[in-house]
Amino acid sequence: MSPDRNRLHLAIQKSGRLSEQSRDLLKGAGLKLSQSGKNHLAARAENFPLDLMLVRDDDIPTFVADGVCELGIVGQNVLEEYALGQPERRIEELLRLGFGRCSLRIAGPESADEFALDRLQGQRIATSYPRLLGRFLEQRGIDAEVVTMRGAVELAPRLGIAGYICDLVSTGATLEANGLTALADVFDSEAVLIRTRRPIDGAHAEKADALLTRIEGVIATAE
Ligand code: ATP
Ligand code: ZN
Repeated sequence: MSPDRNRLHLAIQKSGRLSEQSRDLLKGAGLKLSQSGKNHLAARAENFPLDLMLVRDDDIPTFVADGVCELGIVGQNVLEEYALGQPERRIEELLRLGFGRCSLRIAGPESADEFALDRLQGQRIATSYPRLLGRFLEQRGIDAEVVTMRGAVELAPRLGIAGYICDLVSTGATLEANGLTALADVFDSEAVLIRTRRPIDGAHAEKADALLTRIEGVIATAE
């Protein structure tokens, strides 16, 4: 999948919670998308010099920071977790997109009215977002142990891995199914359009601006 340098490249999630709305947004902006590539790793806009790279959401910040893709659509949660691990900011957030809303929350097996942040002192908290959680705890002077898990974080308390978790929540149904209650808000997120801070050459930069204008138009009408 070596990128065609005559076209712009936009990274979106291949399959997951952001995929459909990312595609719908681009269609709303007037792009005709077609599948291309054997493994469906890419798609092409037929009426605009743009290729889509269909990847895991976690890889999108890296692609955009490295300039492999000039643009991307990703959750602020994934973007900020990545950025906290990078000394130089190589990604610019261009626009909030109004979908993929969720919150990173600390949850535990107790009721919210029994809870105060101080109860986290000395506790273990399982999460897939160690940097976002670490910053939150540090800013509040809480000394807790952050246990990093790739997935199935909500099982940690039952498995005895950690007393609390810090995970993405939208409706709270998954927490409830695991006997957990949301106790504190760590980070609120939605999908955003991002752009590399690496220089984009002239003709490409104009195309990127034109695309941004079209997408802004779609967002403005949706509000
Ligand atoms: P991938 O295979 O691309 O790594 P994933 O399993 O990490 O997929 P999804 O569960 O599809 O990711 O979520 C993608 C993004 O959708 C999240 O990073 C977040 O920004 C957003 N999102 C919105 N609501 C939720 C939710 N309830 N739980 C998790 N993510 C949500
Ligand atoms: Zn992911």
